[in-house]
This record gives sequence, structure tokens and C-alpha cells, in this order.
Amino acid sequence: MKCVRCKGKGIIYLKRHNAAFCQDCFLYYYNNQVKKNIKKHRMFDKKDKILVVISGGKDSMALWHILAKEGYNVTGMYINLGIGQYSDKSQQVVESFAQKNGLELIVKDIKKEYGLDIYKLSKLLKRSTCSVCGSIKRYLFNKIAYDGGFSAVATGHNLDDEAATLLGNVLSWEEGYLARQSPVLESIHPKLVKKVKPLYTLTERENLFYVLINKIEFLHDECPHAVGARSIMYKDVLNRLEEESPGTKQRFITSFLEKGRKHFQDVYEKVELKECSICGQVTTTDVCSFCRFVRLSNQNTEN
Ligand code: SF4
Ligand code: ZN
Repeated sequence: MKCVRCKGKGIIYLKRHNAAFCQDCFLYYYNNQVKKNIKKHRMFDKKDKILVVISGGKDSMALWHILAKEGYNVTGMYINLGIGQYSDKSQQVVESFAQKNGLELIVKDIKKEYGLDIYKLSKLLKRSTCSVCGSIKRYLFNKIAYDGGFSAVATGHNLDDEAATLLGNVLSWEEGYLARQSPVLESIHPKLVKKVKPLYTLTERENLFYVLINKIEFLHDECPHAVGARSIMYKDVLNRLEEESPGTKQRFITSFLEKGRKHFQDVYEKVELKECSICGQVTTTDVCSFCRFVRLSNQNTEN
């Protein structure tokens, strides 16, 4: 197996590109993909302040590392969601990486700072843990970015994540979610910060390779609630398709972005947005779900 670029010894084979790379040329390929994605979708430039969402897993750690290395003005943001050992371990990994590399990091703890417990809330609201957790994360990503004057919130979503989400949304024609599925989601309200996914064309395996080559510490464990999630089933199905027909995931995403998404664009733009009467953040209801969670948690501690 020869590296397609330098003809040296290839150490990673990317089936969908029918190409093998040596370590240096893989890093060149990876860098190029990230740069191309940022430029193509006008995600941000060196003058922008970027808030990078860090979970401690390989994808977000790879994103944080490459953006900092390329000289972007990045600040990491870690949210401790109170998921037992998983949260404690991931916080340690993230804090130690920031310290070793002299990177800015914002840490929020939803229990300590807002009195929120995703397990209690999920019981009280009869909603899944992930749905409660997802609402809290979305709220905080935007609020922290808005309050801190950031131009964009960057997440480490990879090609596998994006293809699995798209498949799930297509299976039930979730128009609202399809409208929002994009590597860059421009702001449609002065209090909404742009969301970007610079790694959306890179696979989980490529991100893993990137962190291993660069000796970046990351949390190997998945969140315990991810087990059995539908997205894992969609990933399995897509992996089988990819095995038979390499490039399926990338084609699925690119053709959706080129030909499919425009049909849902106005669903996103026509959503009626309000400002929460308590916190002033953007919502579709009078009081945003985060403020409702806080109110509910307070009521339940008082009783
Ligand atoms: Fe939150 Fe669910 Fe993701 Fe775990 S898997 S971090 S509970 S959304
Ligand atoms: Zn609110």
C-alpha cells in the first residue's frame, strides 16, 4: 500500500477516496479538508472569535487542536452535564488538554450553576434523558457564545454523525430538522449565534487517526446514554452500505446539501422566534425550555 501523495509507505487506507496515505500526507489531507470546509461554507476567518464545543471525545478534541494549531481565535467550552463518572472523566481530560496547551476554556456545571439534574427533569417531564440534555446543551452553547461576543459556535460533528442524522430525519421527513441540517447554520435572529461543523466531511476513523498521530488525550468512553440510541442503529446501517459502496455517506450528505436542503430552507427561515420573558434568549414559546427546567427544578427542591 503506497501513499498516493509521496509514494512512501501508506499506513491508512481511505476506501471512499480509494487512496492510502502515510502519516504526514494524511495530516496534509486532513488539514486540507478542514480548511476547504471552512472556506467553502464561509464558516469564519482568523479575525472571528470561535467557541468550540468540547465533550472530551476524539472529534471535538481533534477540532479544538486543529483550529488552535491553524491560528484561529478559539475558546473551548465544556459543559458538565452531571452524567456520573463519564462527566467527571471528560472534564478532567478537557481541562488537562487546555492547561497543557495554554488554551482558553469555559467550563459550566449545570448542577452547580443552575441546579439542573437531567435525570430528575427527565422523570418529571416524561422526556428522554437525551432530549432534556440536548435542550440544555443547545441553550447554553448559544447563550455562552452570545454573551461572550463569539462569532460562531463550532462542533465536532463528523461525516458519520451527519449521515446518520440525515438518514433518521429523512425516514420520518422531519422538515424542521432537515431545514437545519447544514455544515453552517447562519443566524436568523440577532441573539442567535451562527453554528458551524468544520469536520463534516471527515469520518470518525479519520478523527481517531488524527488524535492518535498528534498524541491528543481523549475520552474513549461514549456517554452511557448513547448506547442503544437510534443514531447508532443508523450508523450501523450506513456502515454496511459504505462497505458495499464506498462513498455512500459522503454522496448522501453532499447531494442533500446541493439538491435536497433548499426544499426545506423556508421551513427554517419562517419559524416564528420570540425572546424568552425570563432570560431574553431566543425561543418559540413565551418562556424558553431552559427557564422552564430551572423553574421546575427550583419548585421540586422547595417541595
Ligand atoms: Fe446528553 Fe444523550 Fe448525548 Fe449523553 S448521549 S451527552 S445524555 S444527548
Ligand atoms: Zn429563558
